[in-house]
Amino acid sequence: MQSRKIEDENILNQGGSLADISRAIIQQQKPTDQPLNKSLLPSQGLFYHNDISVKKLTTIDIKNLSTVTTDTVDGIMNGILARNVKGVQVNDILVGDKIWLIFYLRSITYDDYPFDIKYQCPECGNMNVFKMQFKDLTVNTLPADFKYEYTLLNGDVVTIGFPTIGNEIESNMILREPEKYSITPIDEELLNIGNYIKAINGKPQSIMQAYRYIETMDGKSFANFANYMADVNFGVKPYINIKCECGNTIVEPLSFSPEFFMPKIK
Ligand SMILES: [Zn+2]
Repeated sequence: MQSRKIEDENILNQGGSLADISRAIIQQQKPTDQPLNKSLLPSQGLFYHNDISVKKLTTIDIKNLSTVTTDTVDGIMNGILARNVKGVQVNDILVGDKIWLIFYLRSITYDDYPFDIKYQCPECGNMNVFKMQFKDLTVNTLPADFKYEYTLLNGDVVTIGFPTIGNEIESNMILREPEKYSITPIDEELLNIGNYIKAINGKPQSIMQAYRYIETMDGKSFANFANYMADVNFGVKPYINIKCECGNTIVEPLSFSPEFFMPKIK
């Protein structure tokens, strides 16, 4: 009943003649694929060989995104990327590009309709509303001088790769049933770092092999490698910076709220 009502209203708004209505319907059905400039991605697009195009979110996508929970967020986002990003398999999309792409799809769907973030400046006490748009995301990009090979302090040469959604799914499977993979507990953060090691001294490594390698690495080599990876890693930061009129910068967490994906557009 609800959707029929909306359709009726749309048809009324679109004028009257059958030709106008059919033209409007054809326009709605036109493929909405639009090319994506890959160099905008946090990864700079270096790991994707084909051209990538994106589509606006559908009403089902929007409904799903506006009702995510921590348990469903990965599945829902992956499903949306699979449907709306063409030219790359969803499992090959890099985790560092994932959140950026979700925000990008939201931005093309709503013509970058601003999202209101209420804040109070702790310096001057000023209360205000920040109108956040896509450009306001805090994004770390892959450094231009990034090298795929890194020599550890212990002398081993590591071939670095960045985790894909496929790797993320595999890691989550391991963490869900660690007893299938290890008789000792598996540390989530070390496993995550293991995802960045594709080969050691030219020998390809599975995620569990890379994990075991890191687990037994000496402290100095580990600290050095972890710092290097923190420097070159890319993605959307979970916060945004808001400049107050007084000059102070306020850091507000970036959250997926229902209103973000279903803004109150008037
Ligand atoms: Zn202030």
